[in-house]
Amino acid sequence: MELQLVKGDITQMHVDAIVNAANSGLMGGGGVDGAIHRAGGPEIMNECSLIREQEGGCPTGEAVMTTGGLLPVKKLIHTVGPIWKGGNNGEKDKLTACYINSLKLAESQHLQTIAFPNISTGVYGYPKEEAAQVAINAVKSFKSKVLTKVVFVCYDDENYQFYQQFLSE
Ligand code: ADP
Repeated sequence: MELQLVKGDITQMHVDAIVNAANSGLMGGGGVDGAIHRAGGPEIMNECSLIREQEGGCPTGEAVMTTGGLLPVKKLIHTVGPIWKGGNNGEKDKLTACYINSLKLAESQHLQTIAFPNISTGVYGYPKEEAAQVAINAVKSFKSKVLTKVVFVCYDDENYQFYQQFLSE
């Protein structure tokens, strides 16, 4: 499984699956969530609403899958990152679970390439340096025979610098 680092907009990625940093109500929002829904069109929200009706949404640390709508992907994976509350409230385990559960879901659908945003590092306030370490460790710990490539897509410079540093170590 190859790990790749890209600076830019995740909605432009040509991969089998992109991951959305969603909220537990799957209601859409700002940040990367808003960008994905804008670029992917209304079909994504229709499926999110169906999941909300059937399952009550998506708990923190878990992941659900929808169509990618107009995005150049086969599937969209929505995972819900933890809100940073100082670090002693299970944030690290929850963030690890986001990455692992997204990878498991991708693998279960025989998807081979997947792109992640920097989950929880926007309005959810997870410190970027620590989140980068958690993300990289989680992905590296995941031994897959199906997935061939995982792309970390960093939108801001700060995240990009941390990923560059930790991926080269
Ligand atoms: P969260 O609520 O999980 O913190 P945000 O969307 O607020 O989610 O932020 C998560 C990360 O997504 C931030 O680091 C932000 O820079 C990044 N981001 C925002 N827009 C995009 C985009 N179009 N593509 C990739 N990453 C993005």
